[in-house]
Amino acid sequence: MTRIRFKALEDSLTHKPVKVNHSDDRAITFYACNVFDDKKMSQYLPEGVYKKVKNCIEEGVNIDRELADHVANGMKQWAMELGVTHYTHWFQPLTDASAEKHDSFFTLGNDGQPVETFDGKVLAQQEPDASSFPSGGIRNTFEARGYTAWDPTSPAFVIGSTLCIPTVFISYTGEALDYKTPLLRSLNVLDKAATAVCKYFNPDVKRVKGTLGWEQEYFLIDEALFAARPDLISCGRTLMGHNSAKNQQLDDHYFGSIPERVMEYMQDLEVECHKLGIPVRTRHNEVAPGQFECAPIFEEINLAVDHNVLLMDVMMKTARRHNFRVLLHEKPFASVNGSGKHNNWSMTTDTGINLLSPAKDENGNLRFLTFLVNVIKAVYENADLLKACILTAGNEHRLGANEAPPCIISVFLGAHLAKTVAILKEETEKGKILTPSVKKSVKLNIEQIPEILLDNTDRNRTSPFAFTGNRFEFRAVGSSANCASAMIILNSAISGQLIKFKQELDEALKQGGTLEDNVLSILGSYAKQAYPILFEGNNYSDEWKLEAEKRGLNTSGSCPEVIKAYTSDKTIKLFETLKVLTKRELEARQDIYAENYHKKIQIESRVMVNLAMNHVVPTAIRYQNLLIENYRGCKGLGFDELVENRLDTIKRISQYILEIKTNCNKMTLARKNANTITDNLNRAQTYAETVKPFFDKIRTAIDQLELIVDDEMWPLPKYREMLFCH
Ligand code: ADP
Ligand code: MG
Repeated sequence: MTRIRFKALEDSLTHKPVKVNHSDDRAITFYACNVFDDKKMSQYLPEGVYKKVKNCIEEGVNIDRELADHVANGMKQWAMELGVTHYTHWFQPLTDASAEKHDSFFTLGNDGQPVETFDGKVLAQQEPDASSFPSGGIRNTFEARGYTAWDPTSPAFVIGSTLCIPTVFISYTGEALDYKTPLLRSLNVLDKAATAVCKYFNPDVKRVKGTLGWEQEYFLIDEALFAARPDLISCGRTLMGHNSAKNQQLDDHYFGSIPERVMEYMQDLEVECHKLGIPVRTRHNEVAPGQFECAPIFEEINLAVDHNVLLMDVMMKTARRHNFRVLLHEKPFASVNGSGKHNNWSMTTDTGINLLSPAKDENGNLRFLTFLVNVIKAVYENADLLKACILTAGNEHRLGANEAPPCIISVFLGAHLAKTVAILKEETEKGKILTPSVKKSVKLNIEQIPEILLDNTDRNRTSPFAFTGNRFEFRAVGSSANCASAMIILNSAISGQLIKFKQELDEALKQGGTLEDNVLSILGSYAKQAYPILFEGNNYSDEWKLEAEKRGLNTSGSCPEVIKAYTSDKTIKLFETLKVLTKRELEARQDIYAENYHKKIQIESRVMVNLAMNHVVPTAIRYQNLLIENYRGCKGLGFDELVENRLDTIKRISQYILEIKTNCNKMTLARKNANTITDNLNRAQTYAETVKPFFDKIRTAIDQLELIVDDEMWPLPKYREMLFCH
C-alpha cells in the first residue's frame, strides 16, 4: 500500500493557485465596488428618489411599490454594467449557512422576444419553498410556503454574475423562519429603550444603534489531506487522531510569521471582502498550529451580521482556489485550541456617543455608569439565555476545554470598574444615602480613564463576557455561529433591562431628589442583586466552578439542557413584551436547535462507526497479521527469546480491536434506541446521555492503534500532517 495521501499532498503543495488579477491591491481603489451602497444609489437613482429612499431607511419606514420600482431600476442598471445576469434573495434560514435561489433577469415578453426585467415587485418579495428549511413545527400547522422580503437597511451586492438582495424569511402567517427577522426587531427595541434612557443625560439623542465587531477564528487545512478524512468532510471535525508530538506547547504559532501560502490566501480573501464592502482589517495566526483569525472594523449590528455570514461563504470559496479548506467548526482537533468568534458589542447614538465609553465629563460618566450597570444586571438576569444562544453540538466541545471560557456566564470588568461597582454595592447594603465623597469615588473622573483602559487592554482572556475599555466582548460565541443568534438575545436582554430601569427611575423622580442621586441609588440596588455574576479571576480554574456553584450560577455545559431556557416563562414574558419573538417562535427555535443537535451527533456517530470498522480495524488486522507472520518466521530461525515481546503487541492490537467493536455495537444500539423518541428535545438529551459517551472510548482505542500500526499503512492523515502542512 502506498501513501496515497502523501502523493496527493505533494500535488497540492506544488499547485499554483489561480492568481486573481488585482490591478491594484490597495483597497481604496476598489472598496465596495460590488455593493449597491449609498454612493451607488446616489449615482443610479433620480435625486428625489434617492432622498426618499435614504429617508425611509434612516427612519425605518416601509418603501412603497413605486419607490421600489425606481430602486429596482437603478439596481438593475448598475448590476448589468457589472455583467450581472441573475438575481437572488439572499437570506439566513435557521441552518448553518445562507440560502439563495437564483432567477434570471432574462424572460420572454408578450411577443415571444427575450427581454431583461427586474422591478420593485421582485425586489421586494419572493416565495421560496419554505418546506425544505427548518421551521420547528411552524410549517406543519400553517401554510407550507414562506416568503422573503427585502431588507433595505443592508445593501445589495454582486457575487460573480448574481445580484444578491439581503432579505428576511418569514412564514405566510408572519412568523420568523430566519435569524434576520428577530434581529431587526431586537435592534428596533434596543434603539427605543436605549434612546429613552439616553435622554436623561443627552436630550438631543434621537437614535441608538447597536454596534458589532466580530473576530473570526478558523483553521486552514490542505485540500488533499481534507479529502482523505471522511470525518472532516461529513462532520467538519476529526473524530480520531493521536495528539501530534509537537502541537501548541511552544506557543510559537500565535502572532508568528504567516506561512507564504496562507498569506496568499489571506490577501486574496481580503481583496474579495473589500470588494463586497466587508471592512476586514486584522489578520494573524492564532494559538493552535494551522489556526488563523480575521477581524473587521466594527459596524452597525445588522450589517456586521450580514458581513460575517458573507465572509464565511467567501472564505470557503477563496480557500478552494488555494487548495485549502477552511474549517469553521468550534473544535476540529482535540488537544489544540478550538475556534471562537468573539462578538465585540456596544451602542452608539446618532450624536456619536459610544454609550459604553467612559466620558470626559460628570454627566457623561453618570451615563456610562448607567449603561454599564444595566448591562451587568441584564447579563445576570438572562445568563441562562445567553448560554442557550451560544451552545451547540460543536461549541459544546470547545467551551470549558481549558482554552475557551467555561460554561458559566460571568462578567469581567477590570480592577477599577470592579471596585466602583463593589463600592456601589457595599454602600447600598449599608442602606446609606451615598455621601458626596462616595459619589465622587464611584463617578469616574478624567484621570481615571487611562487607568480603565490600561486595565482592560491587558484584560482577562478567560472571561466569557469581558468589558474591554469601550465595549463588551462576548467571547463564548462559536466560530461557525451566525452572530445574530447571540445578538438577538443580548439586544433583547439589555432592552428589557433598560425599560425596567426607566420605569424605576421615573417612579423615583416623582418622589423627588436629583437625577444623580436617584440614578446612583437604583444602580446600587442593581449592583447588589447582580453581584454574583461579576468575576475577575481565572475562569479556566476548577476553583471557579466550585465558587460559581456556591454563588448559584448555572454551570451546565449540556446543550439540550441549556436550550430549555428558550421556553422558560421568564424568556417568553420578556420576548412577548418586547415583540421580538412570540411563544410559538421561541418554541420553534428551541425545537430546531434540539433537532440540529441530535442530528449532528447522529451523523458523527455513523461516521465514527464507519471509520472504525471499515478503515481502522481492517488496517489493524492487516498489520497484526504481518506481526504474526514475522513472529513465526523469527521463531523458525531459532531466536525465540528476542521476539517474545512481539506477542504483547499482537495481543494489545486484539484488545483494542475488541474495545472498538464492542463500543461501536453499543453506540449503534444506543442510537437506534434514541431514534425511537419523537420529541426533539428529549431525543437530543438521550443522544447527549447515551450516545455521546462512546466517542471518547472508541477514539482512545483507535488513537492507541495509530501509535502501533505501521505509518505506511495508516489510512488517515495524521494530526502532525494536517496541522503543520501549510
Ligand atoms: P482583540 O483581538 O484584542 O480582541 P481585535 O482588534 O482583534 O482585538 O478586535 C477588536 C474588535 O472590536 C474589532 O472588530 C473592532 O472593530 C471591535 N470594536 C472596537 N470598538 C467597538 C465598538 N464600539 N463596538 C463594537 N465593536 C468594536
Ligand atoms: Mg482577537
